[in-house]
Amino acid sequence: MTKVVHKFGGSSLSSATRYKAVANIVLGHCKAGDCVVVSAAGKTTNTLVKLWQSYVQQDDKAFNDILLQVENHQRQLLSELFSEASAQSLRSQLQDELVTIAKAANARTLHEATLLAHGEVWSARLLAHLLNTLNVSASDVDARGLFAQHQGQLLHAQNKQACLSQIDTSKINVVTGFIAADCDGNTITLGRNGSDYSATLLANYIDAEAVSIWTDTQGVFSTDPRKVGSAVKYPKVCRVQANLLARLGNPVLHAKTLSPLKDTNIKLQVRSSYEPEIIGTEIVKQGYSKEKRFITTFEELDLIRVEELVNGEVRTLSQLIQHSIHHFSKGGEDYLLVPSNDTHAVATHLQGRGNIVETHLRGVALVAPEYEITQLSQQAAVVLEQQDVVIRFTHSDSNYALFLTDQSIDSDVLAILHDKLVNKGREIAVIIAGLGNVGEVFVEQCQAQIEKLQAAFDLKVVALLRSKEMLFCPSGISISNWQQQWRSESQHYSQADLLERISELDYEHKVIIDITASDAFSDMYPSFVEQDCHLISANKYAGTAPRNWYAKLLEQLQERNLFWRYNTSVGAGLPINFALADLQNSGDKVTRIEGVFSGTLSWLCSSYDGSQPFSDLVIKAQQMGYTEPDPREDLSGRDMQRKLLILARDLGLELDVEDIELEPLMPTHLAQGDWGAFLANKQDLDVFYAQRAEQAARDGKALRYTGALDIDEHGKVAAKVGIAYVESGSAIANLTPGDNIFVITSQWYQQNPLVIQGPGAGKEVTAAGIHSDLYWLTQNLK
Ligand code: ASP
Ligand code: MG
Repeated sequence: MTKVVHKFGGSSLSSATRYKAVANIVLGHCKAGDCVVVSAAGKTTNTLVKLWQSYVQQDDKAFNDILLQVENHQRQLLSELFSEASAQSLRSQLQDELVTIAKAANARTLHEATLLAHGEVWSARLLAHLLNTLNVSASDVDARGLFAQHQGQLLHAQNKQACLSQIDTSKINVVTGFIAADCDGNTITLGRNGSDYSATLLANYIDAEAVSIWTDTQGVFSTDPRKVGSAVKYPKVCRVQANLLARLGNPVLHAKTLSPLKDTNIKLQVRSSYEPEIIGTEIVKQGYSKEKRFITTFEELDLIRVEELVNGEVRTLSQLIQHSIHHFSKGGEDYLLVPSNDTHAVATHLQGRGNIVETHLRGVALVAPEYEITQLSQQAAVVLEQQDVVIRFTHSDSNYALFLTDQSIDSDVLAILHDKLVNKGREIAVIIAGLGNVGEVFVEQCQAQIEKLQAAFDLKVVALLRSKEMLFCPSGISISNWQQQWRSESQHYSQADLLERISELDYEHKVIIDITASDAFSDMYPSFVEQDCHLISANKYAGTAPRNWYAKLLEQLQERNLFWRYNTSVGAGLPINFALADLQNSGDKVTRIEGVFSGTLSWLCSSYDGSQPFSDLVIKAQQMGYTEPDPREDLSGRDMQRKLLILARDLGLELDVEDIELEPLMPTHLAQGDWGAFLANKQDLDVFYAQRAEQAARDGKALRYTGALDIDEHGKVAAKVGIAYVESGSAIANLTPGDNIFVITSQWYQQNPLVIQGPGAGKEVTAAGIHSDLYWLTQNLK
């Protein structure tokens, strides 16, 4: 049976609310036999370390204060999570343990690791109990019974046995992170932040399929997302780079975490317990992902030069200070980067072999693929100099470069570095669905567009899709001869195949461009968004879908910082959606939109002069290919009704299609029957139209078919699509046959409305409009 190990760190368990959130994740993601490894709640270990220090210093007052603080924290969690009765036994266990600690302190027999271990013991017990109260069968497991170590070496064979016999396959096993035991059963710890290591070790011993590290960030980013807004979350990072980042002190992954996964196929994921619906970063084996660029920062380090570092010494020192130590050789000498706080301990241990070269250093490390590192580190040096950062020490290796200074690297400098060095290499995978008229032109135009965007983005068309066949090429399809590649490599696919292929893509950004005429394709939008894809739609299906579905999609997009553009779904390439967004973003208030949003109806009404029956014009338009195969589809007005709905939603109005009144441009009975039935009664259409046209002429007006949306000062909305008698001489009356027009009245454009007019259909303008959406996307991803 496949098992999964989930690990929740202190920040995921920092309050009763967070415990409940974790329990929810466990409910949704775990099955019997899985393991949940926990750290101590919140900053408990830090507090216990302080408790230990006060004990060492024999500061009784401080000791008692801190012990009380620990007690209060645990009691508060218990009382917020459980009823009085349900917490009874946990409370008395806690009480006993606190008494034991106090007694041992008095007797001067307190033991450091045993004291620290309480943090994890408490959180495992608490979470297991919480799961039980939610009717999930779970029990807490003390890792001191699983992981034994002798003289600094884990006893793998024995531990594996212990894990296999103690992990209960009928329950969820909540295992303490961070702690282990020596051969005599004394508690030892695996080093600060060691719970990730506990999780991967356990996964190795029980032969788990995967490990999920649930933390407080969404995954592994190009740089610290709290400091740099444009930091990129990488969907995949290879183990070698992850390891290097960990050794360089990147906080998401810890130094030893990856070692138990070596030579295994265990998958490792980093994801956020705060946003469990978001896919995180997968740490993959070498070769399963491209190498990426990262910038990490350091604070408060001392640089120590060591005479002849002996084998295994760095490990011993790391263990001594409970912190990973980065070490490297330069010019034949060995260096250690040690947290300033621990320099004393390290120097003492080195007994005069350590020479402190620099103290209180800060700095950055650049991690990048080998072929880029030389150039990038030169660029980094230039940027740092421009930012007046004086470098005191640098070191570069085949896949990283260090820059150390005694100045602080503030977030502005970090952002500039990131912008210049990391963002340049940003990649977007483009998936184009629909290779009809517009789709083919769009693909043709891609070549030139991709070159143009190259400076800021590396755009790759990775997939072309028709309804049943696709050409999928993760490294990019060569656009100039896609037809040929299509003929030799395209394959049948199902929706599941497509989603699977998309999930495997290793790009920073992905965008689906929907140029299909298929509502089944837009049904997949939520799944695309789940795969972190941006969306560009050229059709109206999703934009006019029922409000619930639509609102959910918007919410889902927002949660994941994804964009959805659909500029061409109304007025093809005309910049109507841009104009509406711009007006609103700059503080204007739109009060009315009126216009003709159908090329067919525009052509019919503007061409009619009474010299021939209206139905003749309809048939002529049909023959020229201006209409839908059955022109009644156009005459029904439904297409304009949907476009008006999209515009209304762009204004933030919560409408559904039925909220827009619809008056067709034909007598209702003509909508029935087949096209033959229509032709037999076409004179009814002629009379219908002629009567209204004459009426318009009598009033000195023009007959047009329009959509109109009004918002009054109380926010009340009236929307209608139908026949309108417009002032002759007005922009709508003078419309060139076939063109679309949008007349926008707003606070600022009140007397004299803003008019956008031009061809609202055609493959070239539509394809160009989709490129405009794609361009917009690249600009907004910056
Ligand atoms: N609780 C331990 C610490 O704070 C272990 C961990 O969080 O992974 O270092
Ligand atoms: Mg922690």
